[in-house]
Amino acid sequence: MKSKILYIVVPCYKEEEVLPETSKRLKSKLEALIEQKKIDSDSKIMFVNDGSTDNTWKIIQELHNSDKIYSGVNLSRNRGHQNALLAGMTVAVEYADMIISLDADLQDDINAIDAMVDNYLNGYDVVYGVRSSRKTDTFFKRFTAEAFYKLMKGLGVDIVFNHADYRLMSKRAVQGLLQFKEVNVFLRGIVPQVGYPWTTVEYERAERFAGESKYPLKKMLAFAFDGITSFSIKPIRLITSLGVGISVVSIILLIWTIVTKILGGTVAGWSSLMVSIWFIGGVQLLCLGVVGEYIGKIYAETKHRPLFIIENILNEKKKGE
Ligand code: UDP
Ligand code: MG
Repeated sequence: MKSKILYIVVPCYKEEEVLPETSKRLKSKLEALIEQKKIDSDSKIMFVNDGSTDNTWKIIQELHNSDKIYSGVNLSRNRGHQNALLAGMTVAVEYADMIISLDADLQDDINAIDAMVDNYLNGYDVVYGVRSSRKTDTFFKRFTAEAFYKLMKGLGVDIVFNHADYRLMSKRAVQGLLQFKEVNVFLRGIVPQVGYPWTTVEYERAERFAGESKYPLKKMLAFAFDGITSFSIKPIRLITSLGVGISVVSIILLIWTIVTKILGGTVAGWSSLMVSIWFIGGVQLLCLGVVGEYIGKIYAETKHRPLFIIENILNEKKKGE
C-alpha cells in the first residue's frame, strides 16, 4: 500500500519572528515521520500568508526556494485566521491524504502530530487536538475561553471542549468541509457537522515563543459572537420568550392600574411612567439589535462572496522526482 501524504497547513499573519524557528521544527518533525514510514515523502508544510504587512511572505518564498518540503499560499489581503486556514486546506486537499492545521507560533505541541497520524492510520477521519490544561494561559484567557465553551454548549452548539484549530482531517473530511458554503466561517462549529469517525488527542499548550498574539480581546469577542450567532438561533427564542413575559407583566400592570383608578386610587407617578417607558424602549432596542444580527448574516450569506482570493501558490515537486 502506498503511504499517505500529510500536509501541515499553517496560517501566518505577521509571523516573521516565529517562522524561521517554526519551519525548522516542523521540518524535522515531518522528516522523522517520513523516516518512520508513517507518511509519504511527498508530505509538505504549507504556509498561508494572510496578507501580512511584514516580511512573512518573503520568508515563505525563501523557505520554498531552499527546500521544496515547504510550500506557500499567498492571499491577496488579510482575511482572518479562519479564512486563511480554509484557503490553505482548499489548496492542500488537492495533494494530501490528510491535513493537519496548526498555528504558526507552535503554542500547540507538535509532538501530538504522531498520535494524530496514528489515529488517522487506524481509520479516524478527524482527530481533534485537545488541551489537557491551560496552565500557561493567563487567568483571563482561561476564564473567558472556558466560559465560551460552556456558553456554546448551553446554546446547543456542538463543539469539542478545549479544542482550538489544531486538528487532523482526512481528505474526504476536508472535501466535506469545503461543501459548507457559508460566509461566516467558524471551523470549530462546522467540522463536527461534517461527521465521519473522530477522536481526540491531548496535548499541553505552551506560550508563544516569539511575537505577540494576533488575537486581541476585540477579535476574540468578535470570534465568540460570530460562533454563537452562526450556529444557534437560541438567542432569538430567548428574546421571543422575554417579549412574551414582558407583555404578560404589562397586561397585569394595566389591569391593576385600571382597577386602582376605578377604586379611586391616586394617579400613577411620573417617575414610574418614565421608568417603564425607558425599560420597554431598551428591551425593544436590544431585541431589534439581535434580530438585526441574524438579518445581517442572511445578507452576507446571500451574497456568496468568495472567502479568499489566492494570489500565488508555491508547490513544486521535490528534487529527484
Ligand atoms: N492569524 C492569521 N490571520 C489573522 C490573525 C491570526 O492567519 O488575521 C494566524 C496567526 O498567524 C497564528 C494563528 O492565526 O498562526 C493564531 O493566532 P495567534 O497565535 O496570534 O492567536 P492566539 O494563540 O493568541 O489565540
Ligand atoms: Mg497563538
